[in-house]
Amino acid sequence: MTSPIEGLVIGRPLPILAPATIAALQPSLRDVVEYRKSGLSLNWIVGCPLDCGYCVRHFFDNYDMKVPRALMPEDQAAEMLVTHKYFRPHITPIQLLNRATDPMLPRVKPHTFAMLRLLDLKGLTNHVLVITRWRIDPEDCAILNSFKNIRLTILVTHSGISDDRIEPVDSNIAATSLRVAYENARRYRVILYWRPIVPGLNDSDNHLRRGLELSRFAHATVFTGLFYKDQIKQYFQAQGLPEPYDEGPRRKIMPEALEQRILDAAAGFEGGSPLFRKTSCGVAYAHGVADYNGHYGIRELCDICPVAQIGRCADAWKRPAESEVDAFAQQLGGALIEINERAIVVEGLPEQPRYLMQHNLGYQVHDVARPHQLNHHGRADIGWPATEETL
Ligand code: SF4
Repeated sequence: MTSPIEGLVIGRPLPILAPATIAALQPSLRDVVEYRKSGLSLNWIVGCPLDCGYCVRHFFDNYDMKVPRALMPEDQAAEMLVTHKYFRPHITPIQLLNRATDPMLPRVKPHTFAMLRLLDLKGLTNHVLVITRWRIDPEDCAILNSFKNIRLTILVTHSGISDDRIEPVDSNIAATSLRVAYENARRYRVILYWRPIVPGLNDSDNHLRRGLELSRFAHATVFTGLFYKDQIKQYFQAQGLPEPYDEGPRRKIMPEALEQRILDAAAGFEGGSPLFRKTSCGVAYAHGVADYNGHYGIRELCDICPVAQIGRCADAWKRPAESEVDAFAQQLGGALIEINERAIVVEGLPEQPRYLMQHNLGYQVHDVARPHQLNHHGRADIGWPATEETL
């Protein structure tokens, strides 16, 4: 039988991994659909040669796989996504290839485009996020502009880290891609994904100035810190790299003083795009819609947000009915504890069903066992002296 997307992958397609090789991958890597905070994530290709020291591939025991390989063809992966129990047409945000490869690597890019085409042909209007630090050229932009239905956002990662033991890829590649993508954007939107910002590595005044200058070439800028979880910490130690933090917490680290320096620098800078602390906030702003993660409930997040966007989020943000949330939580196997002015609090629900609730209700859903600290914006306690003391 002919594949419905035959001909969509231009050029020589990636080989599909042998079943025995797939079976040897970590179970989470074989699971090609996974719900994450920014959306349902589809990862049907694994392997990356870019060697960023802080890459999430460390978490999947996949850092040594340098050559991208497919686990399955695009039509099969797309079907797994749209038939996933948590997928909702036109609602669920989607992320492509954000876990184990870069979607714009030369051999991967045709597959990324094929998947975008497939989703678009299904008439889906969901947000679709593509994160890259690799090259984007004007011909790519023409393809990215050709999709009619999906709400596409290209997030270009740029850190400015010059220690090539931590980031061997030249940051100028991302800087050029950002500019090209932004200048050619018609139907899609572009985010400067300014991350990871790490004290002592890339937070000098010059680094901040460079980040703000780049923010001119984006519809929005999202700045964030480092996931310094155990696996990355161990990698830094094994390579003899300077360790930025003593601990490896579950959440991203963005020290209070560093955040304030970034915001102060941005306040004195003309012509940049607005800064956001959260990915979904930047994506939502870039498309002129309300945040799909309900961050508006965490009101202190919004103090840097443009007035028009605050209005959009305020209009869309509604405290859901208790009976509805209660039934939703129970159906997923958990229990509702309370709905307060900031969030729904549940117990017994892992991350993935919590994100399903959050994206469908447009209201934050927190786990009672993992409380969020006021003003921390869901980040680690490291670098927030007032909280470190009370703990
Ligand atoms: S108003 Fe708040 S929730 Fe909405 S996009 Fe801005 S920061 Fe995010």
